[in-house]
Amino acid sequence: MSEWVLAYEGFDSVHEGLREALCTLGNGYFATRGAAPESRADGVHYPGTYIAACWNRLTDEVDGQAVDNESMVNLPNWLPVTIAVDDGDWLDLERVEVLTQRQELDLRRGILTRWLRFRDGQGRLTALTQRRFVHMAQAHLAGLETTVIPENWSGQLRIRTGIDGTVRNTGVERYRKLASDHLLPVSQGSATADTVVLTVETNQSRIRIATGARTQVRCSGEPCDVQRTVRTEPGLVEEEMSIAVKAGGEVTVDKVVALHTGRDWAVSEPSEAVLTSLERAENFEELLDGHTLAWAQLWERFHTSLEQDHQTGQEASLTVRLYLFHLLQTLSIHTLEADAGVPARGLHGEAYRGHVFWDELFVLPVLTLRAPGLTRSLLSYRYRRLPAARAAALACGLSGALYPWQSASDGSEESQLVHLNPLSGRWLPDVSRLQRHAGLAVAFTAWHYFEATGDLGFLQEEGAEMILDIARYWASLATHDPDTDRYVIRGVMGPDEFHTGYPGAENDGLDNNAYTNIMAVWVLRRALDVLEALPVRRRVELTEGLALRRSEVKLWQELVQKMFVPFHLGVISQFEGYGDLEELDWESYRQRYGNIQRLDRILEAEGRSVNGYQASKQPDVLMLFYLLSADELRDLLGDLGYALEPEVIPATIEYYLSRTSHGSTLSALVHAWVLARAHRDQSLEYFRLLLESDVADVQGGTTAEGIHLAAMAGSVDLLQRCFTGLETRGGVLRFNPHWPESLGTFTCRLRFRQHDIIVRISSTLLRVSAVSGDVPEIQVVCVEQWRTLRPGESVEFELQPNEV
Ligand code: BGC
Repeated sequence: MSEWVLAYEGFDSVHEGLREALCTLGNGYFATRGAAPESRADGVHYPGTYIAACWNRLTDEVDGQAVDNESMVNLPNWLPVTIAVDDGDWLDLERVEVLTQRQELDLRRGILTRWLRFRDGQGRLTALTQRRFVHMAQAHLAGLETTVIPENWSGQLRIRTGIDGTVRNTGVERYRKLASDHLLPVSQGSATADTVVLTVETNQSRIRIATGARTQVRCSGEPCDVQRTVRTEPGLVEEEMSIAVKAGGEVTVDKVVALHTGRDWAVSEPSEAVLTSLERAENFEELLDGHTLAWAQLWERFHTSLEQDHQTGQEASLTVRLYLFHLLQTLSIHTLEADAGVPARGLHGEAYRGHVFWDELFVLPVLTLRAPGLTRSLLSYRYRRLPAARAAALACGLSGALYPWQSASDGSEESQLVHLNPLSGRWLPDVSRLQRHAGLAVAFTAWHYFEATGDLGFLQEEGAEMILDIARYWASLATHDPDTDRYVIRGVMGPDEFHTGYPGAENDGLDNNAYTNIMAVWVLRRALDVLEALPVRRRVELTEGLALRRSEVKLWQELVQKMFVPFHLGVISQFEGYGDLEELDWESYRQRYGNIQRLDRILEAEGRSVNGYQASKQPDVLMLFYLLSADELRDLLGDLGYALEPEVIPATIEYYLSRTSHGSTLSALVHAWVLARAHRDQSLEYFRLLLESDVADVQGGTTAEGIHLAAMAGSVDLLQRCFTGLETRGGVLRFNPHWPESLGTFTCRLRFRQHDIIVRISSTLLRVSAVSGDVPEIQVVCVEQWRTLRPGESVEFELQPNEV
């Protein structure tokens, strides 16, 4: 078994969607699912192609209500290539005897290869090999090479290749009843002897997208001239060719594809850009060389290896690589061109319509420590939407910036108003936009990027303004309760999406969600720090520009001392009144339903509401222990006048762990994290579960609709930051390792304050090495032992071995 190759043998219609998602190839600008080139969207296959941030909005009527949805658009399918013999039918795997079918995703080189060997009704044996890439260096190019060997027959080999712009967004079953036609045909046809181009336009956002294919044929390795017939219809262009072949001969079709939109940088018009790109493009093999070089460089920068000697260890190592691979394919240097945020489900499918949630909280730390410039550009996605966030706060009669729970093109709130419970078949009101905490994640990631990089330029240009305005929003939302002399925040939802309101209450939303209140205080504290950290001139400019009054800053200082935090039974309450809700009989629900991850849907279908129960979908209070160190939380609560006794953290973890259904893949990540210190064996169980998230599709069919990017990034982060106890506070590289022995030895390459650093850790030794260069020394501390690290040198720390 190779730690670099994801291999699938045979064909499995049930899991085809999952394979397609996991075999997606992309480069941060666009991605294409690993569907078979001859397939169409037919309920089993779904050949989707998505360009980052290519959005379009459609309107439906659901239960008499107009429902707007902005979606990441499924773009013209550039894959189609199929074959036929003489005047026989086009290849249909259902109608031939498949002798070999194997697919391999080579993670090291970013190449998807498929081997197929089949016998048709006339006993003809044909071997077909296909290799494809989405270029990691030249973001607008992709390639598909098809080699056909007629093993025991001679005759006319017919080949049909094309670009299909008649596609729709039908990748998610739940959305299929809603509008899905996003593309209007503009033009299609041949541009040169070997090139066809198809242009479409999104019907609302008016984004013009051109896809071109240059198709060249080689017979037994030599270029061969073939007659081509081009066929078009609106939104479709196909080329057909016919070649006389002899048994044992070989025909190869190289399809080099270019993709441009009218919003790309440095283009005039997309179809012209496509032609220019194709004219400049090298041949398939040369392009492949450049592509594999780009991947080699990327892997060097993101070097991550888990050395374990047993089989399960190797599987874990492959999975971690696969997840990092998909992270790098979703967010890369080319994402810069797209004005894109962090899409929760990658560029791999249409779940959540490609929207951006708070998931950057789980994704950006991995990037900040490897390619900080990328984090900065993704934070800029949020900065460009600050005016929309300000308008959203204003619309609620508040000040500052209210970032939406789901966003897409322009920073408006894109959360659904209704959602379908597939178990009951009912459309239900969706109030998840009451998760006002997305902005807290923006501020958190912005500050942590600044801490890790010391990038004062970012703080001055974008970061400070976002943090200040987000803090301002929370200060204006909090109200003073004169009875207790505490500030309270009412009517919100926490990260646990099950609870939308109090049982039987007229209004939606909950009061004093502990995560929200505490993180709001965290942001207010950071806003005060930001004012200190800014150079005087910029501070003056910003306070003037934002009309930030002295009285507001005074209020912030009061809020960080007087925010209310609810507790019950010696634990932090998820929200005020959580402890009064009914207990659920978890065992009986597990017995009755088996999988109870979506307990909310089960209860609704039974005519009950999850709002009445102490039952959470995913960590809510526990997010605090994921984001903040115990010291930081103790300090923050201490200033609020709450003593965080040592027993409160383990008691709180235990309390919610037994009341969580893990209905989100984020659940395993956060639980693995918060259990890492005190319950390493349990933490490892959650780590393993997290690794299963997408490869084993633990959410029951959801991966086919798109990967879970935060879970993928989180599994790398658990190794990188959690088990190593890595922090980058105050310009110092800090380690507090709890490295589980069973994970063997881990090595990764990090970027910290201009240093290229290699970290190598086992349960007994931590070695930190700095690659040579002309940069100042840094301090490294491991459990109170300080060492100076100079370029070209290493420092070592012996660790106390542990059993697990
Ligand atoms: C989770 C959210 C998450 C979203 C996108 C949902 O299932 O509850 O916390 O942001 O998925 O990943």
